[in-house]
Amino acid sequence: MLFLCKICPVKAIKVDVNTEFPSIIVERCIGCGSCYQACSPAAITYRSSITEFKELIASGVKVAAVCDPAISGEFHDITDYRKFVQMIRNLGFAFVAEVSLELT
Ligand code: SF4
Repeated sequence: MLFLCKICPVKAIKVDVNTEFPSIIVERCIGCGSCYQACSPAAITYRSSITEFKELIASGVKVAAVCDPAISGEFHDITDYRKFVQMIRNLGFAFVAEVSLELT
């Protein structure tokens, strides 16, 4: 039997009674952090990639930021997307694209 956790706004956490732990359906997760904040036994951990990012930018190679469209919900005070793109470029990214961009 399969249950979906109510804390997740996109139903990305499934609980299968046949397994020992809940799991996250990665394709659905929007990274809102609700499960991280709600998990009282602190069973969910956050893995930061900031160190790897800084090393990559410092290496001098051109790095592209590929953003999920959901990120606009994280910065609802930014009404002009160009400011958002410039913010990301100021971090050191050479290119900024939305994940659904098709390169032909
Ligand atoms: S981060 Fe948000 S969307 Fe992702 S699994 Fe947790 S509650 Fe669901």
